[in-house]
Amino acid sequence: MEPTPEELRAFDDAHLWHPFTPHSVYRAEDPLLVESGEGNWLIDVDGNRYLDGVASLWCNAFGHRRPEIDAAIRDQLGKIAHATLLGHAHVPAVKLAKRLAGIAPEGLTRVFFSDDGSTAVEVSLKIAWQFFRQADGGREARRTKFLALGGAYHGDTVGAVSVGGIDTFHERFRGLLFPVLRAPGPYCYRCPLGLERATCGIACLAEVEKTIAREGPELAAVVLEAGFLGAAGIIPHPEGFLRGVARATRAAGALLVIDEVAAGMGRSGAMFACGREGVAPDLLCLGKGITGGYLPLAATLATERVFAAFLGPPSEGRTFFHGHTYTGNPLAAAAALAALDLFERELPGLPAKAAYLGAAVRRLADLPAAGDVRHYGLAAGIELVADRGTKRSFPPGERRGMRVCLRAREKGVFLRPLGDVIVLMPPLSITPGEIDLLVAAVSHGIRTECGDAVA
Ligand code: PMP
Repeated sequence: MEPTPEELRAFDDAHLWHPFTPHSVYRAEDPLLVESGEGNWLIDVDGNRYLDGVASLWCNAFGHRRPEIDAAIRDQLGKIAHATLLGHAHVPAVKLAKRLAGIAPEGLTRVFFSDDGSTAVEVSLKIAWQFFRQADGGREARRTKFLALGGAYHGDTVGAVSVGGIDTFHERFRGLLFPVLRAPGPYCYRCPLGLERATCGIACLAEVEKTIAREGPELAAVVLEAGFLGAAGIIPHPEGFLRGVARATRAAGALLVIDEVAAGMGRSGAMFACGREGVAPDLLCLGKGITGGYLPLAATLATERVFAAFLGPPSEGRTFFHGHTYTGNPLAAAAALAALDLFERELPGLPAKAAYLGAAVRRLADLPAAGDVRHYGLAAGIELVADRGTKRSFPPGERRGMRVCLRAREKGVFLRPLGDVIVLMPPLSITPGEIDLLVAAVSHGIRTECGDAVA
């Protein structure tokens, strides 16, 4: 007999250890217990339906139980569920590598598969490290430093946290992480340089350029998210920021690593965010939406110049020493191939949808607690503040962001905040009517839970 919803909740409380979850408040904050999905909607064990406002953690691209992707996985199940890529190949991975190389920014023709966004980044760091020990007879082996941005998030493996720029992670794992050079991230609402947006002239870019110029000969790679700082609170780069960083990185002879785990695969309104700035990196990290949000698969794309440094007789040991058991899993690759068909079909409609979302969230700017309303492609972030004049935050213990998201549930919308930033990251397949519902639910939540904020 199947367990009842109450029994399932008891099993959860007794046995599941949830990621990024304070267990002392877990049950009190009424967590979802999802049973199924239908299009852009989640359905819980009690039959309640919620619009999936964060695309099941920013990855669901075309809705749940999308017939085309379901069928591709079923078809692949009829052939084989798993085979290794270590020294061998299988059909879906070969097809997917060709397909990704065909749509990637200029020059990215080699695809290294892994399982999650974190591992895609971890792989890029290790490739960059090994590259400079091996390229040109190791003449540039002095390149041992990495530069990344304050506020950046690149995942949870040790290398990815090291290049991340979120202070709380660094406090927790001090001693475990490797040192990384850091430049200020472009967080205009609370400018790390204390400047005003209208007159700054992208001063944070000048800081990045200065560090790159100073450290140039020892710099292995500059690592940054394209388009926007994601986990820092959906903070869009100023126009020209990525282009400027790319130019300075090239001039210094370092590798440019772009993390499009969040911004890639249509989220920017284009296939890749770096394309919007005309930038093609040496290494590109992809994950999340690559399978349409179905299965864990990630990819690190590299240029032939990078790949060539790993060629040579086995005795020379130039092989890339990295690989996971489920790397490039056939079911996941089959899902990704079906998702790519859908991307091809849906991409032309995304800019209009992104503009609709932008216009809808801008209407929230009138709420006194909406300190900053940010929008990039099909992503938006509303930073809640106690006092708009001084930009004073609410005390973190009040968990206003979480409370606003719980209120949104009353209107049939599921959201998960980043602290006091309300994140809207819906499936790309969201309809204009559903965008209206999403924004109305956020408005209801902010009015109810932050009515005491001052304008
Ligand atoms: N890079 C970025 C930009 C991300 O937003 C994330 C996840 N939010 C990651 C890397 C890590 O991806 P994953 O959680 O799949 O390991």
